[in-house]
Amino acid sequence: MKILFASSNRGKSAEIKEVAQSYPAISIIFPEEVGPAAPEVEESALDYRGNAELKALSYQAWSGFAAFADDTGLEVKALNGLPGVRSARYAGEPSDPKKNIAKLLDELRGCADRRARFVCVLVAVLADQKIVTSEAALEGSIIEAPRGSGGFGYDGIFIPLGFAETLAELKGEGIFVETHRIAAARKLFGEITTWLTHRA
Ligand code: IMP
Repeated sequence: MKILFASSNRGKSAEIKEVAQSYPAISIIFPEEVGPAAPEVEESALDYRGNAELKALSYQAWSGFAAFADDTGLEVKALNGLPGVRSARYAGEPSDPKKNIAKLLDELRGCADRRARFVCVLVAVLADQKIVTSEAALEGSIIEAPRGSGGFGYDGIFIPLGFAETLAELKGEGIFVETHRIAAARKLFGEITTWLTHRA
């Protein structure tokens, strides 16, 4: 089955491609293979699931293919879960990763509790409007200044639990980490494979 990944983020696409290799019944396609002018979807829902569903439905309508989308947030314990669903526009619009990081580090200055986690929710819209969702998290902590050149978004300030380097450093060095997105994608593709088997 062909399914479109509703994102133009190369970092996200790389993780999705990697996981999809283990699910031969599923063939992932990307917006640039469908055509120009992919939809710009306003993330207006109140939670990750709602935003991911908005994106998946919009890309499904645009392409005519089954589609799935990701919505991710960084939840910082000492900030009561912020920036959370507001992670992309934490420092305002337009979304700017450097400004988001600067604001977050500012708010955590002098704070001893640096615990945080990434939460990723995936929503797939399949034939007959069947919806499948999955969710996974990556626990870790926030450092005081960005390090590393790999990855994207908040990767430069996040050290996954059990590691000494940031996600940006680890990704830059090609070290595999079972991220929130990789774990959520495994669950999603497993469920879709089961659904396909029962449908056949
Ligand atoms: P969205 O899921 O694309 O809306 O992302 C929300 C915000 O979190 C954006 O600022 C992204 O750059 C950032 N982000 C999303 N996923 C990741 C990730 O896996 N690592 C680091 N930052 C991320």
